[in-house]
Amino acid sequence: MTPSMGSPRVAVVGAGIVGTSIALALRKRGAQVTLVDRDEPGSGCSYGNSGAISPASVAPLAMPGILASVPGMLLDNESPLHLPLRYLPQALPWLLRFVASARPATVEASAAKLAALHAGALDAHEAMTRELGVPELFLRRGHLHLYPDAKALAKDSGGWRMRQAYGFEAERLDRGGIEALEPNVSARYQVGMYLADHATILNPLRYVQAMAGAFAAAGGGILRSAVARLERGDAAWQLRATGAADGMEFDHVVVAAGAWSKVLLAPLGVRLALESQRGYHVQFPGAQGVISRTVVLADRKVFVTPMEDGLRVGGTVEIGGLDAPPDERRSAVLGRIARATFPGLAQASARTWMGHRPCMPDSVPVVGAAPGQRGLWLATGHGHLGLTDSLNTAERIVGALLGPV
Ligand SMILES: Cc1cc2nc3c(=O)[nH]c(=O)nc-3n(C[C@H](O)[C@H](O)[C@H](O)COP(=O)(O)OP(=O)(O)OC[C@H]3O[C@@H](n4cnc5c(N)ncnc54)[C@H](O)[C@@H]3O)c2cc1C
Repeated sequence: MTPSMGSPRVAVVGAGIVGTSIALALRKRGAQVTLVDRDEPGSGCSYGNSGAISPASVAPLAMPGILASVPGMLLDNESPLHLPLRYLPQALPWLLRFVASARPATVEASAAKLAALHAGALDAHEAMTRELGVPELFLRRGHLHLYPDAKALAKDSGGWRMRQAYGFEAERLDRGGIEALEPNVSARYQVGMYLADHATILNPLRYVQAMAGAFAAAGGGILRSAVARLERGDAAWQLRATGAADGMEFDHVVVAAGAWSKVLLAPLGVRLALESQRGYHVQFPGAQGVISRTVVLADRKVFVTPMEDGLRVGGTVEIGGLDAPPDERRSAVLGRIARATFPGLAQASARTWMGHRPCMPDSVPVVGAAPGQRGLWLATGHGHLGLTDSLNTAERIVGALLGPV
């Protein structure tokens, strides 16, 4: 069926939180949608994130002063930002653009774009969890950012000023205030910044699965197929893929393949400065009641989340490429931080995970039509905030692809 004969045929490549949100939103507007992934929905980066819906996170990762942290990134295995020397040659072009993005004017521009993409994310996710019949996954109880002392907080003052400039007010707490909210946090943390109206998805995998289920129930197709190439014919796009998707034709293709999008797009001449920032989590199964909201150990750049299936401690940025196996030393660091911060976890066992955040140098996702490629759409580069921005990304793609309602 061609678009003139009916609803457009759309392939969405990648069933992470971004692709699945797009597929559902397109299907709800009547498009014939096939969601293609080499794995089960939600198995990529969207599986193991920290669940934070963080609209106040308007500061990009590359902030003024980032250059000073580069030697530590290269040499210190335990630094929250790490670049193994073996990967330096491949990472260098991206790293140079990343450092260049820390110019004040670029930072301001990125913050404005991020704020626009985050707008309304809390209400949108709350409504989506209700619509999917999983309201229990949405916890709107704020985020508590913790610092050892005022000096450590001062190091983050640029980020807090930017949040405030975009209307996000945080309440500053002393140790008593921290204990009133989260009594199990160790005495290391004496200063808190509390963003009262923030939220958490308590099981990011189950969220994607519920969304994929709703998409299938609405008549969407889900195919387990690895896409090797996208080819443009005269009238349509054709997938070259393993399994059932091979040879299928579509009027539009949305590339939402996370950190792997670059590989799919390069042969088409679409060059993205996309790099994986590998992140890790350790999860303590069954550890319930340790905290009651998202807690950010801001000095360590670590998020702690009270997931429905245990306590998750996520973080670290490792610029180490798509192919190398996880570096267990990185998750060991997270485990040590967790046990030191919550003494009750001292004897608890944990499982570990690594995933690929799809990151642009300026932290701004790439959402919209691929320049010069009729029917090709990009939805990637969501970096540290792909869960937060998934639904608004879907709205933007659907609006551009199908037009306003
Ligand atoms: C430790 C950690 C903590 C995080 N915490 C948060 C948080 O608290 N809040 C937040 O908003 N964000 C967070 N993030 C970021 C967030 O998880 C990502 O931005 C988001 O998951 C990206 O989603 P995606 O759908 O683009 O990518 P993915 O989830 O990686 O999905 C891409 C999919 O594409 C598929 N694919 C790739 N290539 C092909 C191919 N050739 N053929 C077929 N399928 C293909 C993959 O199998 C995968 O399923 C965190 C990330 C990490 C690592």
